[in-house]
Amino acid sequence: MAKKSRRKRPCCICRKWFLPDVRQKGRQKTCGPDCQNELHRRQCADWNKKNKAYFKNNYLGKKLEKATGSKTVPDSSKTSLPPQTKPVLPIEIITTEYGIKPAIIVQYLVTQIINQTRARPTGFT
Ligand SMILES: [Zn+2]
Repeated sequence: MAKKSRRKRPCCICRKWFLPDVRQKGRQKTCGPDCQNELHRRQCADWNKKNKAYFKNNYLGKKLEKATGSKTVPDSSKTSLPPQTKPVLPIEIITTEYGIKPAIIVQYLVTQIINQTRARPTGFT
C-alpha cells in the first residue's frame, strides 16, 4: 500500500524538504511553526488586499448607521457627532448645512486623502 501522505514535500515558504505529520493527511504545506506563521501572515495580507474595499464600505456604512440611528434618541439638542481625530473640520457647520450623513462622508474622505498622502514618501526624486 502506498503511503501517499507520508512523503517528503517542499515547504511552500522556505522550500526545504520536510516530512509532513501523518495526522495532517497531506494538508500540511509548511515545515514548521515558523513557516506556518509566515504562510498565515501572507494569506492574511492577501485577503486584506482583496477585501480592502469591503472593509472601507463597511466602515463608512456603520458610521452612517450609527449617526442616523442615534437620531431616534429624544435628546435632539446634541446630535452625537463622531469624535474627530486628525483632520479637525468645521463639522458642526457641515452638519447644519448638509446634515449628519454628508458630514461623516466628508470627514471620511478627508481622512482617506490624508492617509494617502502620508503613505507616500516625502521629497522630490
Ligand atoms: Zn519552511
